[in-house]
Amino acid sequence: MLEVDHLSVEFAASSGVVHAVRDVSYSIGRGETLAILGESGSGKSVSAQAVMGILDSPPARITGGAIRLDGEDLLQLPEARRRRLRGAGVSMVFQDALTALNPVFPVGWQIAEMFRVHRGVRRAEAHRRAVQLLDRVGIPRAADRAADYPHQFSGGMRQRVMIAMALALDPQVLIADEPTTALDVTVQLQIMTLLKDLQAERSMALVLITHDLGVVGHVADRVAVMYAGSIVETGPTRSVLSNPAHPYTKGLMRSVPTASAKGARLEPIAGSPPDLARIPSGCAFHPRCPRAEAVCKERTPMLTTVAGARHSACHFAEEVLHARTP
Ligand code: SF4
Repeated sequence: MLEVDHLSVEFAASSGVVHAVRDVSYSIGRGETLAILGESGSGKSVSAQAVMGILDSPPARITGGAIRLDGEDLLQLPEARRRRLRGAGVSMVFQDALTALNPVFPVGWQIAEMFRVHRGVRRAEAHRRAVQLLDRVGIPRAADRAADYPHQFSGGMRQRVMIAMALALDPQVLIADEPTTALDVTVQLQIMTLLKDLQAERSMALVLITHDLGVVGHVADRVAVMYAGSIVETGPTRSVLSNPAHPYTKGLMRSVPTASAKGARLEPIAGSPPDLARIPSGCAFHPRCPRAEAVCKERTPMLTTVAGARHSACHFAEEVLHARTP
């Protein structure tokens, strides 16, 4: 349904050219959930913004690749057609609903506006549909609350409003960018359950952007791990998380607490992610990698098949996959 094919995105900055997304490819089908996992600044959100078509002007520049929705390359479409597909083809739930929603209009009005502008629906009918959606995403007394403004909702309820708005035009693909980051654990679970229910009802493809390994393990069919703007490992979620084939994924796994490792020491990945205006030579992870050898500094590893649907961009992927050490 959605195919991102060798996508590259740059930003012009005073420090130089920031290579935010480098040659990223992935695809996702109807009803599937793909998690894009990585630290802050790894390019996860920028790649999603490129898919949404909100990076088409300076300082951002899409320097290569294609983004196909049902075979149609979104990057080649005239802006008017692209605008029509935004919300109906691909829609997005942003991390911070308070800044994503318009503070000066009631939430019901904002959702109804989607039906009026994109579907030409009359005012009363658009309002009825907005209330229906608010009710579906679990807003109590939806008919009354449609008249409230974003700041009158709690964080969790605001995120539900954001989801209602993203679903208004019945998108084929929903991108959820860290949809639960600002919420407490109980509300996080409620929001993720809601997203999965809505996905199943509508057979949507769901691209979930997150740094939370717990969320990935529970909801995603497949995972793509990003580092320094590139995908470094991808494959079925359970298989990747239980036995990574890339030292970076291994490092991520070692740095999060698990119930089975109660009392064990957590090991953060040494160092910090690179400046994307000065990406290290060869493998971008080499300054932080405990497995690095001389070749890693000289040659860039390509994403290659290691087993079945598993791919890793590491010169020693096979050894990493079969290593007994965690
Ligand atoms: Fe580490 Fe080398 Fe593999 Fe990069 S290519 S992840 S530096 S072992």
